[in-house]
Amino acid sequence: MAVRAVLFDWGGTLTPWHDVDLYAQWYAYSEVYDPENASSLAHRLKEREDDRWRLQRETDGAQSTGALDQLFLDEGIDINGARHLRALGSYLDFWAPHTYADPDAKDVLAALQHRGYKIGVLSNTMWTSTHHREVFERDDLHAYIDVAVYSSEIPVAKPHSEAFRITLERLDVAPEEAVYVGDRLWEDVTGAAQIGMRTIWIPHSAIPSDHVREGTATPDATAHRLLDVFAIVESWQ
Ligand SMILES: [Mg+2]
Repeated sequence: MAVRAVLFDWGGTLTPWHDVDLYAQWYAYSEVYDPENASSLAHRLKEREDDRWRLQRETDGAQSTGALDQLFLDEGIDINGARHLRALGSYLDFWAPHTYADPDAKDVLAALQHRGYKIGVLSNTMWTSTHHREVFERDDLHAYIDVAVYSSEIPVAKPHSEAFRITLERLDVAPEEAVYVGDRLWEDVTGAAQIGMRTIWIPHSAIPSDHVREGTATPDATAHRLLDVFAIVESWQ
C-alpha cells in the first residue's frame, strides 16, 4: 500500500537527544516552590516521576504515566496556586534549552507536507498538549503537524498498540499506509511494527540502560540524519 502518513516520535527524534539531570529539573521547581525544603521536595517529585515511568515501561504502555499535574496533586500541591505556577515556570525554563528541534526538522516536515503526506506526532510524555504546542510554535513546526497525540492525555503509551491506533484514527489512515519514525527500538520500532506500520529508526540517542527492553526489533530502515526520512519514505512509493 502507498504511504499516506508519516508519524514522528518527539524526544530524541524531532529534537536531538539530551542527557538531562532529572533531579536538577525538580530542584528548579522546588527551589521556587519551597526554598527551605527544596532538596527533599525535589527528591520526592523525582521519585514519583520515576515510579510512573517505571510502571509505564513494566506494563508495556498499558498504563501511561498520566499528566505532570498528577505528581503535584499526589504531593498535595495546589496546582492553581500562584506559588506552584511560578515554580512550574522555573521547571519549564530549566527544560527549554533541551527542547529545540533538530536542525533538519522543519525541512523534513515541509518536504513531506509538500508531497502530500499527512504528518503526525505520537510522544510518550507527561507534558500537556498545550505546552508541546508552544514548543512547536516556537520552532516554527506547528503548521506542519496534522495530528499530535501525547500519552499524558490518553490512558496508554507506546509501545502499546492502542497509542498508535488512536493516532492513526485521528489521521484517518490505516497502519499499512503509515510510517513511524523514532529513536527507541522497543517503544517506537517494535510498537509500530506490531500493528503493521513501517518503521524508521534514528539511532542517535543514548537511551538509559534501564529503559532498554529485551528483545530485538528490526526497523525497515535506519535514518542517519532526520532529513534522510524523506528519501526513505519516497523510496517506498
Ligand atoms: Mg524518543
